[in-house]
Amino acid sequence: MEVSFSREAQQLRLGQGEVFHGEGILAITKALLQSGVAYVGGYQGAPVSHLMDVLVQSKPYLAELGVHVEACSNEASAAAMLGASIHYPLRGAVTWKSIVGTNVAADALSNLASPGVTGGALIVIGEDYGEGASVIQERTLAFALKSSLILLDPRPDLAHMVRMVEAGFALSEAASTPVLLQLRIRACHVRGSFACKDNVAPAMSERHLLNEPAPFDYGRLSHPPSTFAHEKRKSGDRLPAARRYIVQHGLNEHLCGTRDELGIIVQGGLYNSLSAALQQLSLADAFGGSVPSLFVLNVTAPLVPDEMRDFCVGKRAVLVVEEGQPEFIEQEIVTLLRRQGVDTPIHGKDLLVMAGEYTVEVMARGLVAFMARHAPELPVADGQAWLDAIAARRAAVAQELAKPLPPRPPQFCIGCPERPVFAALKLLQQDIGRLHIAADIGCHSFASFEPFNSGHTILGYGMSLASRAGVSPMMSRRALAIMGDGGFWHNGLVSGVQSALFNGDDAVLIIMKNGYTSATGTQEIISTPDAHAKTGADDKERSLVHTNQSIERTLQGIGVKWLRVVHSYDVGAMRATLESAFATDFAGLKVIVAEGECQLERQRRIKPWLASLVRAGKRTVRVKYGVDDDVCSGDHSCIRLSGCPTLSVKASADPLRVDPVATVLDGCVGCGLCGENAHAATLCPSFYRAEVIRNPRWRERIGARLRQATIKLLQPA
Ligand code: SF4
Ligand code: SF4
Repeated sequence: MEVSFSREAQQLRLGQGEVFHGEGILAITKALLQSGVAYVGGYQGAPVSHLMDVLVQSKPYLAELGVHVEACSNEASAAAMLGASIHYPLRGAVTWKSIVGTNVAADALSNLASPGVTGGALIVIGEDYGEGASVIQERTLAFALKSSLILLDPRPDLAHMVRMVEAGFALSEAASTPVLLQLRIRACHVRGSFACKDNVAPAMSERHLLNEPAPFDYGRLSHPPSTFAHEKRKSGDRLPAARRYIVQHGLNEHLCGTRDELGIIVQGGLYNSLSAALQQLSLADAFGGSVPSLFVLNVTAPLVPDEMRDFCVGKRAVLVVEEGQPEFIEQEIVTLLRRQGVDTPIHGKDLLVMAGEYTVEVMARGLVAFMARHAPELPVADGQAWLDAIAARRAAVAQELAKPLPPRPPQFCIGCPERPVFAALKLLQQDIGRLHIAADIGCHSFASFEPFNSGHTILGYGMSLASRAGVSPMMSRRALAIMGDGGFWHNGLVSGVQSALFNGDDAVLIIMKNGYTSATGTQEIISTPDAHAKTGADDKERSLVHTNQSIERTLQGIGVKWLRVVHSYDVGAMRATLESAFATDFAGLKVIVAEGECQLERQRRIKPWLASLVRAGKRTVRVKYGVDDDVCSGDHSCIRLSGCPTLSVKASADPLRVDPVATVLDGCVGCGLCGENAHAATLCPSFYRAEVIRNPRWRERIGARLRQATIKLLQPA
């Protein structure tokens, strides 16, 4: 990848007593090394991408420690990697975005959970739930419960999170159970500091090799009849061991309040927001003191019955603050208490909203309701006034904005190679009619917004081709699937292409070959081209092995007979190729590889290179497009066909024209789409192409002066 994490990588080297400053996810990365981790793997995805990004770029240092890092091809391969900890006392950590990544990893995770582990196994989960999330809204807790995994949900404080990583490995070993460490978006990005410890080189590692494999032990295979014994051991041995460790090491926190008869049990990850909500109601101060007593669940699975009893017994009432649905924790607490004869009133989802993120405001509303019922004597009027003011402000804004605002959805970067493909697709559908389009995960899903409104379904990463298998046989017109090269290698090759070929499906697939998994931060994939050679850009931070594997050769090798490679920006050629894919008599799978490097990554690479050429006095050319105001017809079909953010409108200088004219803003990177669209869609001839030349040659300087002089001569004074 082109983004440099060298500063973050330096922090991984900090030793005993030195202070780490930075983001939560980087603190976790450092904590892994302090815990003696022997191997790390994962698949990128917000909000945990940085963990792998930093480790991949730190490979030389990790090699000194003997720590192995693997950029896995998907979450399933990352989960399977933890199999190393089943037999060997190796500490291993993997990471991915959840819930989607956990779904992909589900098979391997279940098969890991069944025999359990010898070495500590930690799965760092980016819990993408709530405001700002980018995936389906489900919780990892459900998965942890069904597989009897341990789930940590640490209070978002760097020193505490680091402690929980270290405890997570030890807990995993004590209970022979893999541990999920859940980090919400805010926890990943919370900033702070902590005093470091020295990194621990693992006893068995790339530097200290095992001479013999573990002895054969059928009991460690997730295979019947061992699986029946595993199932009993989960609740008979491992669960009690986990609960003992949690209590003995004080992993959960009981924070006494000034009114101990009122209690709140909160998921650790929500503690900061709860604290802020209590402060709004004048029920807490900024230093951790609060009126109600708090029980912070840094471990949300399993719960410890004695801890729940000891906290709840004798209280007037307890509120359970649990984000997401259903209310597993609340239900379990009620069960645990009833079994022990404790009848303290328990509230939760009856006073707090069932679904969505528990923001400070959401929690404050629940707290007001709780206090009104069980502690009406407490003065929460200030907080209520604050909530009323928010409601009033919302109502006022809603009235003011009675007319809906134009939506401002996210969209492709300027010059993105995927935008022209959707322009071609739009033109195609004008000719042959609307298509069923199976969309996928990746940057190309931006096409689901204006002006393309493209895509009927999204069923998962790399699943587009598979998801149209039931549609194709029912449609008179062929169905189209679109996936990126990231999705192709993640899952699409096996789940989609293989299945379509095996079943002889008649369908069309577009693969956006931009060279990276761009949507997750432009990480490299097995087909990432060695583009650095073209520019001479600095290569020393590229630490993955580059096979430059070809998607095309892979497709041919697996048996794709109809395959075309089209340059993404060539709208005319793309439209013609699509037309032939939908018109051909060939009844099998037709694949179009749309080739064009991710513009974000390209610009990142070439901008410093071009700047260095300019500084060295060398000639550079930057292409820009523009619109001639006098020629622009003002129908804006160019904008509807492109959606490029730098293609905008401005008032016409002509007083006789009321409609605004199109204009190209300064951000244009000269991708050429404007020119291509103008030709392919026969738009008005208002676009011009200009070249901005730095350090021009003497002939170009003279030519420019001559042109300027001629124009001046012909213009009226
Ligand atoms: S990151 Fe790359 S592929 Fe994604 S929208 Fe931007 S230019 Fe396109
Ligand atoms: S040429 Fe057109 S589409 Fe490409 S960056 Fe410039 S304005 Fe945007």
